[in-house]
Amino acid sequence: MTKRIVILGGGTGGTLAANRLRRALDAEYEITVVDRDDDHVYQPGLLFVPFGLAQADDLVRSRHRQLHDGIAYLGSGVDRVDTEADRVHLADGGVLDYDVLIIATGARLVPEETDGLTGPGWMTKAFSFYDLEGATALARTLEEFDGGRLVVNVVDMPIKCPVAPLEFCFLADWYFQERGIRDQVRLTYVTPLDGAFTKPVASRTLSGMLQDKGIELVTEFNTGEVDGEAGKLISFDGREVEFDLAVVVPAHGGAECIERSWGLGDALGFVPTDEHTLQSKARDNIFVIGDAAAIPTSKAGSVTHFEGEVLTRNVARFLAGEELDASFDGHTNCFIESGFGKALLIDFNYDTEPLPGHYPSAVGLPLLAESRLNHLGKLMFAWLYWHSLLPGRDLPGVSTAMPRAGKRFETR
Ligand SMILES: Cc1cc2nc3c(=O)[nH]c(=O)nc-3n(C[C@H](O)[C@H](O)[C@H](O)COP(=O)(O)OP(=O)(O)OC[C@H]3O[C@@H](n4cnc5c(N)ncnc54)[C@H](O)[C@@H]3O)c2cc1C
Repeated sequence: MTKRIVILGGGTGGTLAANRLRRALDAEYEITVVDRDDDHVYQPGLLFVPFGLAQADDLVRSRHRQLHDGIAYLGSGVDRVDTEADRVHLADGGVLDYDVLIIATGARLVPEETDGLTGPGWMTKAFSFYDLEGATALARTLEEFDGGRLVVNVVDMPIKCPVAPLEFCFLADWYFQERGIRDQVRLTYVTPLDGAFTKPVASRTLSGMLQDKGIELVTEFNTGEVDGEAGKLISFDGREVEFDLAVVVPAHGGAECIERSWGLGDALGFVPTDEHTLQSKARDNIFVIGDAAAIPTSKAGSVTHFEGEVLTRNVARFLAGEELDASFDGHTNCFIESGFGKALLIDFNYDTEPLPGHYPSAVGLPLLAESRLNHLGKLMFAWLYWHSLLPGRDLPGVSTAMPRAGKRFETR
């Protein structure tokens, strides 16, 4: 009898999971991907748009065209999941029954949850580059910005790609130097963390880089209010940071359809998930991939990609009544663009923080150090995303599990 696999979300995780599953399973398994629109955005490219280094249109491709033959695509919003009935309710009133459900609904920006952020000054003095609209509007404003206080602020964690706001700072330093007005711009990075990054060794390196580039670092700042008219960030404990232009990474939550699904999500709308098998904690026949999962790793496309292999294996094992593979180790791999044609690379997992050395082995890309090679890697990633990662292929020399060879463990 035909078995139905329904995948909610056709972004990075939903697309690569569908393509991997189509190859792994035979035709008696129907695979349907549901998403509310047909615009697949290459999100890492958003970082480059404000600086004129990428054009918004070049980052968008048709979602359904990224899916292999034999995968059905349904363009519809998801209203909610009834986990008791194994049924998805669509926004148009339709329903989809499933044998296995894969949640790939990502993370949602919730700027409206910060007092004042979307009030006066939103999109004129305060922007986010985390979506196409914001990144494009910010590009126009940056072009006209000829001096003053530019503040980059992370409102709250978790966020997608936690290094992206740091990359924004580094690129802003480069951008204003290129324009010859760096000495007229005061750059400040304001974060709720106690350092530039979550993990100690990388945090030390990245804090040092901010210092070297003359970018002020304000830590443990929990933004409670953004006063766009007065140009002020105000923390819950009453501290203030003034700005002429604010680049804000808003708070994130899970998809609204998860919040509307009884018993499925946590308080933020993310889905409690076994961090090693990727099976949801709510029901055995629900698996989770990408930013939607409440697991202790970064919300990043690289993580989503590494999860793909274990998720596919486990859906197949679940359908065959076999024991699940508990091998996902939280592997994360991020290029950090640092300006002037250079970038750093970090590679870590649940147990190992980002360390110096080389990736993927003793010979390879330098870890936690600036290099031109890493910058080329970051640029090449866009091609790999569309042609290798989304089609669900393994990248040559890149393993799902974090490689230990090449890392300098004594640096702790
Ligand atoms: C500025 C920026 C820079 C980044 N840089 C990097 C980087 O350098 N490296 C890296 O690894 N990662 C990076 N990322 C993160 C990466 O893009 C995400 O982690 C990745 O896309 C997560 O994939 P996903 O499938 O979980 O979510 P997404 O790709 O966001 O897909 C979620 C999908 O679910 C759909 N959806 C949600 N709710 C509903 C609903 N109710 N009904 C129907 N459809 C719904 C959405 O439309 C969307 O298509 C960056 C992100 C940003 C914003």
